Amino acid sequence: MSAASIPVLTYHGYNVAGNDYASNDHVALACDLEWLAAHDWTVVALGRAVRSLFDGAAALPERSICITFDDGTELDWTDVEFGELGRQRGLYGILDDFRRAHPQRPAPHATAFVIACPDARARMAAGALQHGHGMGERWWAPAERSELMTIGNHSWDHRHPLVVSAEAGGGNFFSVDDPAQARRQVVESARYIASRSGAWPALFAYPWGQASDFLRFEFFPKCVAEHGCRGAFGTEPGSMHAGSDRWYLPRYVCGEHWRDPAELAAVLQ
Ligand SMILES: [Zn+2]
Repeated sequence: MSAASIPVLTYHGYNVAGNDYASNDHVALACDLEWLAAHDWTVVALGRAVRSLFDGAAALPERSICITFDDGTELDWTDVEFGELGRQRGLYGILDDFRRAHPQRPAPHATAFVIACPDARARMAAGALQHGHGMGERWWAPAERSELMTIGNHSWDHRHPLVVSAEAGGGNFFSVDDPAQARRQVVESARYIASRSGAWPALFAYPWGQASDFLRFEFFPKCVAEHGCRGAFGTEPGSMHAGSDRWYLPRYVCGEHWRDPAELAAVLQ
């Protein structure tokens, strides 16, 4: 049997409010990788899943599942000290730990969706991240070259309120609804990310899961030659299948759609 539908799980490296599953996406990811393996799920690269469902590539086995990380903080890549909560294993390290512990299984894989604009990242890190952690870009190339990670596109500046004023559409990615803004948020960002990661990002994740009709129904489907993207992801819960809109694919978000292994089991039912 091949996979008719493929769930995509999303984690945020900066979600560290405690050291248990419900308060820490690093703890949750490590736990979920073990749980998925114990329940016969195989983590596959998101790009491979998209090609399989939409572009005629080889079908994936039943119980294939994908993992994504959003926003591209350094906690996606490195271990960091996190104040009184102590050292946190980076999300990449958690994938690598799993690979070493299960050499007989396929290596897990995650797509890390990063924000392109260096100034936007600096402002977001200074304004929103704890303990001086950053959103640098030097890890993108080694991540892209690694067997365990691919870098995806999470827009030019996320239209983040720390970067763009509310009057100018900040805090709202639905405001990206004309060709000029689409090119900046999707194409310029891809060009910048490719210049640092070494590979054109083939997948996009809408900030806050917000997709304007213009992006979803006009720009993405009609300008493929320009943006070179194979799929775009929101955060509506669900599994992707061949009938999904490839420009608004569903994902499950850790902490929002499930908070413990029992809830993960329920969403994957
Ligand atoms: Zn985001």
